[in-house]
Amino acid sequence: MLDVTKIRADFPILSREVNGKPLVYLDNAATSQTPQQVIDVIVDYYSNYNANIHRGVHALSQEATDKYEQARQKIQKHFNIAQAHEVIFTSGTTHGINLVANGFTSLLKKGDELLVSAMEHHSNIVPWQMLCERTGAILRVIPMSREGELLMDAYHELLSDKTKLVFCNHISNALGTINPIEEIIDAAHQFGAVVLVDGAQAAPHIKADMQALDVDFYTVSAHKLCGPTGVGILYGKSDWLTKLPPYQGGGEMIAEVTFEKTTYADLPHKFEAGTPNICGGIAFGAALDYLNAIGLEEIAAYESELLKYATEQLLQIDGLKIYGTAARKTSVISFNIEGIHPYDIGTILDKLGIAVRTGHHCAQPIMDFYKIPGTVRASFSFYNTKEEVDTLVEAIRRAKAMLS
Ligand code: PMP
Repeated sequence: MLDVTKIRADFPILSREVNGKPLVYLDNAATSQTPQQVIDVIVDYYSNYNANIHRGVHALSQEATDKYEQARQKIQKHFNIAQAHEVIFTSGTTHGINLVANGFTSLLKKGDELLVSAMEHHSNIVPWQMLCERTGAILRVIPMSREGELLMDAYHELLSDKTKLVFCNHISNALGTINPIEEIIDAAHQFGAVVLVDGAQAAPHIKADMQALDVDFYTVSAHKLCGPTGVGILYGKSDWLTKLPPYQGGGEMIAEVTFEKTTYADLPHKFEAGTPNICGGIAFGAALDYLNAIGLEEIAAYESELLKYATEQLLQIDGLKIYGTAARKTSVISFNIEGIHPYDIGTILDKLGIAVRTGHHCAQPIMDFYKIPGTVRASFSFYNTKEEVDTLVEAIRRAKAMLS
């Protein structure tokens, strides 16, 4: 059982007020809050050993390099990745997906097929559309049900020898659905297709095991799991990372440069051009330490209790409809109230100190599917409480009374 009072004390931001009310932060799917333990690591970096890495002979550079590489190893261990060089530091999930999509330009031909799930974030749609434009490959969509679950029979029918790539999120940011990625990966592999799983929403809730999943690529953003913004990782199987060409050229990613020809550095540096987010990488490692000290299974169990409670309470409000009612879902509730625009609800909640997300959540195809302009999305983390759920429900009732 989590000691939520103790956990909340780790997050300075949770004790601030917004619009004269105690902050109720329910926008965790957009970005999570940062515990003091991670803030301390960031302050320590800039106070004590800020230096560029991998190229200095001086003590600070060595210290920063060691800490950065230790963070890579922490990430490797956390996701049970076979080799440290399969962890590529990125600026986040978007960067990781673009890196892979760019790399496949020379590996695809006209008429090849790519399968994308119907419930993707724009960052797992647009880079592939751009890849299709470059190569003449065709993007096909794995459909979903009204409940927000992928139609797996349709997926199996879409797979063929033409399928070269399949991409899907592990958990949907707009609906909270936990997708059956094990089945998706296995079925794709039977046709020799490569699978990229967008783990941005899953990483704060599920400790994904890269070797057990046998996934080819997996992307994570640190800011979704109590780490800083602007840093993440792309996991890639060594074979694929070796086959893909570099994404960006510059310092750090070369073996030798002459004006006639440049040779590239080995993995992971081949994909890490320029000075990286050194402090961010180290803080990412610290965020994983923080979460692992609490335990991801304990976190998931508590969040699913919060989800159940919040769902029950919200459904008691007349006219409230929840989008995404999958049997396996995480602590995200997307909803609308009949006759009221989501933005208006979000604005009133903000006046009451409650942070939720409103809009299409970078997943416009899902909104088109339900024929709605957007939703209000409340997303809960392990530092939220049932009392905060009660505050939310009460505030929605007030907003509804004001707007009806
Ligand atoms: N995919 C999903 C499922 C997400 O929730 C997000 C963040 N909202 C992203 C991708 C993009 O992540 P980032 O903005 O950190 O690159």
